[in-house]
Amino acid sequence: MSLEALKSVDPDVYDAIVNETEREKNKILLIASENYASKAVLEAQGSVFTNKYAEGYPGRRYYGGCEFADQVEDLAIQRAKELFGAEHVNVQPHSGTQANMAVYFSVLDPGDTVLGMSLSHGGHLSHGATVNFSGFLYKPVTYGVNKDGYIDMDEVRDLARKHRPRLIVTGASAYSRTIDFEAFAGIADEVGAYLVADIAHIAGLIAAGVHPSPFPHADFVTTTTHKTLRGPRGGMIMCRAEFAKKVDKMIFPGTQGGPLVHVIAAKAVAFKEALTEEFRDYQRRVVDNARRLSDELLQRGFDIVSGGTDNHLMLVDLTGKGITGKDAETSLDIAGITVNKNSIPYDEKPPAITSGIRLGSPCVTTRGMAGEEMAEIASIIDAVINNSKDEDELRVLKERVLSLCKRFPIY
Ligand SMILES: *Cc1c(COP(=O)(O)O)cnc(C)c1O
Repeated sequence: MSLEALKSVDPDVYDAIVNETEREKNKILLIASENYASKAVLEAQGSVFTNKYAEGYPGRRYYGGCEFADQVEDLAIQRAKELFGAEHVNVQPHSGTQANMAVYFSVLDPGDTVLGMSLSHGGHLSHGATVNFSGFLYKPVTYGVNKDGYIDMDEVRDLARKHRPRLIVTGASAYSRTIDFEAFAGIADEVGAYLVADIAHIAGLIAAGVHPSPFPHADFVTTTTHKTLRGPRGGMIMCRAEFAKKVDKMIFPGTQGGPLVHVIAAKAVAFKEALTEEFRDYQRRVVDNARRLSDELLQRGFDIVSGGTDNHLMLVDLTGKGITGKDAETSLDIAGITVNKNSIPYDEKPPAITSGIRLGSPCVTTRGMAGEEMAEIASIIDAVINNSKDEDELRVLKERVLSLCKRFPIY
């Protein structure tokens, strides 16, 4: 995209964008929640729709001049329905957290009990963490993973029977195994709770059929559109037709004003891309690459929580390597590999330090990397962790990262 106007009006922001572009090109990005949106998505998001107010929904807006806004929102809704098989779709949530908020507001009263996955075991802030609205507005009860790193459905059932939550939320930000939505639905049914499946991380895998779908099991399905789904930064709610009115009212006017029409246009583009065979093939490669990276790390003596992965991510337990997640993140970044430190289940270190790192394959797979490159990345990670204090060696390793990046250009 041409940035000529920006360059002359605001060289500082222009420079930041140029530098960010170089960073995304010349580093290996292994942050599991990130991806490279296509040029088409970026163009739609950078369009004149940013100028438009469109409070309300297609065909019933509170502003004039919404005919083209209606067109892109209808496209986004229709494509999302086709992609996931949803009865009702709302594409207006500004983020995944706001999608969850609107769902909770539509069926819960303050003080109601919500059962969700503990943040420290891989759940999301918006699933009842005490620092988040979901934790201080509702009464959170949390389940975790067992010592093997798997969600323990018996524990979930016991907690549900004991606490009788009004709502159960499944889904995670740092869980590498398949989620059994049907089993969650059985438990929700038994205790009379609503079931929300938050598929923010695995939406792309589900769209492509490489992870079981939460439909028809969940009452509500929430997601982000920017993670494995590879669209613009944003959220979305899907639900049974019976909840459509409530959900729509809780997004607008309940918790948001005007929708971000430029982002909705970009969501429509991303959903069109996701309906292709190419995208399904991409998601299969995402899962293959994660498995290969995990296998290569295991072979080099790394511990992976749960012993591997079924999806696009893995949690590496660095306890046995004598390095914290925080220091590993710093050393890897010097060598040109971007990851995030992450608590592992039963972590004894505080969240700002942690004993682990989370690795994901969506970005490198979008670049076209495959098995051999996963082996090379694992080898570089191993060398970084073994030489984490040796800045000269880290700079040598950075050359290997750069040569990989040159072979797999983006944009
Ligand atoms: C990323 C994520 C979200 C929402 O993220 P936002 O940053 O608010 O868009 C919600 N739930 C889960 C499980 C996530 O991983």
